[in-house]
Parts: sequence; structure tokens; C-alpha cells
Amino acid sequence: SEPQRLAKVLAAAGVASRRTSEELIFQGKVTVNGSVCTSPQTKVDISKDSIYVNGNRISKKLPPKLYFALNKPKGYICSFGETKSIISLFDDYLKGWNKIQPGVPKPRLFTVGRLDVATAGLIIVTNDGEFAQKVTHPSSNITKEYVVTVDGAVHRKHLIAISEGTKIDGVKCVPDLVEQLAAQPDTKRTRLRIVVHEGRNHEVRELVHNAGLEVYALKRVRIGRFRLPSDLGIGKFVELKQADIKSLE
Ligand code: URA
Repeated sequence: SEPQRLAKVLAAAGVASRRTSEELIFQGKVTVNGSVCTSPQTKVDISKDSIYVNGNRISKKLPPKLYFALNKPKGYICSFGETKSIISLFDDYLKGWNKIQPGVPKPRLFTVGRLDVATAGLIIVTNDGEFAQKVTHPSSNITKEYVVTVDGAVHRKHLIAISEGTKIDGVKCVPDLVEQLAAQPDTKRTRLRIVVHEGRNHEVRELVHNAGLEVYALKRVRIGRFRLPSDLGIGKFVELKQADIKSLE
């Protein structure tokens, strides 16, 4: 295999994020072939060099790159360490890892971007940091489609106000599409389809709130060309196909 930068190799090996890996290296916690290495740029070959972090040997094998589409339940968060982290939905899958890939280190999974705790629907989970960065970078312009359920009736003035956009963190965010979905006769709520491409924090909620409407529920149903499979249960995930991954890059 090709020599690669030490910090990148540690991240790919699932030790920690690229940033945290760099910190571990700066702190002198990493040795390469018996000597402490404090430069994250050092080129190493994971199949040949002997690398230790905090005294633990890094496996010569890298975990494969994995990409999942998860149907996020509301009430789950996208970061680690806390209760009801999205990643806990992968516990059983990871528990069986040694049967799927004996001798290969467990992947360190994280979400591509974030959804609010109260938001449901499509989120991508991966161990590929470069992919995650590409997809979430503002310049990617990947569109995301949401179905928003709001309290009460929606009038033309509301739709106009949403389509005019709003400023978030000093940036004007204008949705690519706003439309009302067929009325649900048995509720006092209205559903809207909203497509955005910026991916700012709370963007859809801000757009809707700014128009004078109350969000009852928010669900993401599409990222780029990938639509949440209608048969994917809440809290369930599927592996993305190569073509889906390529279409998001
Ligand atoms: N916009 C929001 O307001 N919340 C989300 O979770 C995603 C997009």
C-alpha cells in the first residue's frame, strides 16, 4: 500500500477523528517503529510500519469504508457519548463485526452532517471522513428535501414568506422549492415540501418559523439524488450502493 500521512492513517484506522488524531500525535502519544513521532505529516505505511497509540498497537488492516442510509427516529442525537446517540442504533451491527470481518478493526462511525434531535428521516452514517467533508461542505450545493408538518392552515402569504428566505448566521438562505402537499382531512395540520441546499443549522425550522408558522414535525426525505427508501423502518439502516455514494460526491 501507498505511504500516507500518519494523522490520516490513524483516522482511517478508526482511532479518532483526523483532528483528534493530530492532537494525539502532537502530545507524543504515538510511536512509529519504536520512536515517538510528533509530526502528523509523517508518511507511514500501515501494512509495514509498526504504529502504537497510547501503547496500543494499531492493526495492519484498515476497516473498509462503509456508507449507510439511516432512517433517524426523532429524539436521537447526531453526536457521540450521550444517551440516544444515533450511533447506538449500530450497536448490534458492530457487536457482530468480528464475525463479518474477523481480524479487521471495527469501523468508527459518524454522521454526515446533522439533523436536529427533533428531526426524523434520512441521514448518512459512514466512517469516511473525506466523504463526509465533501458532502457537507457548503460548496457541494447538494439539495436536501424535507417534509414539514406545521400547525394550522397555510396561506399564500406563508408560502411567499418561506420562499423569500431568511438570514441565518448572516447568510441569506433561500429555499430551492416550497410547496404545499395534499391536505390531511383528519388533522388541523398542513404538510409542506421544502428543498434547501445550504445545510445551515436549523435552516428549515428558521424558514418556517420566520414565515409565522409553528413546526409540528420535520423529516428529511432526500439528499441529492438519494431518496429515503419508503420501506426503511424508523431506526433502520441500509448500505448505500456504489452508484448512490458516487452521486453524492
Ligand atoms: N433544518 C432544520 O431546521 N433542522 C434539521 O434538522 C435539518 C434542517
